[in-house]
Amino acid sequence: MNSFADELNRRLAALREQNLFREPRRVDSAQGTRIEIGGKSFLNFSANDYLGLANHPALKTAAVNAVEKFGAGAGASRLICGSLAPFHELEEALAAFKQTEAALTFSTGYAAAVGTITALCGKNDIIILDKLVHACIVDAAKLSGAKLRVFAHNDLEDLEDKLRWSSSFSLSRNTLKRELQPHVLVITESIFSMDGDAAPLCEIVALKEKYAAWLMVDEAHATGILGRHGRGLANELGVSDRIEIQMGTLGKALGASGGYICGRRALINFLINRARSFIFSTAPVPAAAAAATAAVNLVQSAAGEALRSQLRQRVAEFQSAIRNPQSAFISAIIPLILGDENKTLAAASSLSELGIFVPAIRYPTVARGAARLRVTFSAAHTATDVAELVAALNKLAMGN
Ligand SMILES: *Cc1c(COP(=O)(O)O)cnc(C)c1O
Repeated sequence: MNSFADELNRRLAALREQNLFREPRRVDSAQGTRIEIGGKSFLNFSANDYLGLANHPALKTAAVNAVEKFGAGAGASRLICGSLAPFHELEEALAAFKQTEAALTFSTGYAAAVGTITALCGKNDIIILDKLVHACIVDAAKLSGAKLRVFAHNDLEDLEDKLRWSSSFSLSRNTLKRELQPHVLVITESIFSMDGDAAPLCEIVALKEKYAAWLMVDEAHATGILGRHGRGLANELGVSDRIEIQMGTLGKALGASGGYICGRRALINFLINRARSFIFSTAPVPAAAAAATAAVNLVQSAAGEALRSQLRQRVAEFQSAIRNPQSAFISAIIPLILGDENKTLAAASSLSELGIFVPAIRYPTVARGAARLRVTFSAAHTATDVAELVAALNKLAMGN
């Protein structure tokens, strides 16, 4: 038995050697712009809680009320013991919000990706991914058994190369059996999680239509932030109804927990019957669904608009203080790429000594040698908070 722990300790030592060892830091407060770690208060620029909803009274009240009425747990998978009303309310709210026929929620965004991609694609199919898509999409694509092709990040020419290859591959495989004809699924994010940049969705939509492929867009970092009422980047660009599968998470700007898929009723009915992470997993706690419904309503209200405007303001203040005064608002994620893992860790720990929490993002979250401080903003930050961060970065000579 000792040799098991010995082997793992050897592997862990290798991670430490490469400055890749990680451990969770215990926080003794709610998520917010100030969090308490080890009895000390930190100014927090690390969360994806872009609108400050994770600890918002409207979400908390909704969660508490759902606990009172529906209890703490869901009992089983929704297909086994009945499907609690808060999930249905949430899915109706999401479909209305995203202007699709229907929606389905999962316990996490990760589960949504895995369940959906493996349901839609199998070994006869082809999946084409942007190089920088989230790990859950990569894992799902591998698990599906489909042939994988990766196009260079946001590179339309490379995407078209892959699509051209796929269609010639499909032709060469031409078969009378309809179910054996390969389908091609292109997957990208709208706002990329570690770089904060946007995909050229209009052009990607045009390409997938040219080659008769399907398109799945993960709006994890744009939902609640971009587009009319925070519907996402696809809405902002006017291409939502040309995207077969719209995915997102309820755990980022929406401040709760869970993942969703929005699209045609046929897609949702198919996933209910085929998405294994939906079928073979206990439903999330009803309180999470109720909190998410409150968030979906909130982001579409005047209060939601005000939060988005505050968020844009904070990002603009930071951009102009630090490097890029002209750039338009793209997202709440600003990476400061240092490259070297060691240097990035040292910078994060210096910031931490100044009472500021910014995570050092390293391999495997980003490529080796592309380590970065990932600064994320929230509508709940004040101008003073941003000024404090800028002063600290200047102190570390990282101001420009
Ligand atoms: C966070 C994230 C997910 C996973 O969502 P969870 O709800 O956290 O499981 C999926 N895709 C992207 C791009 C993400 O950033």
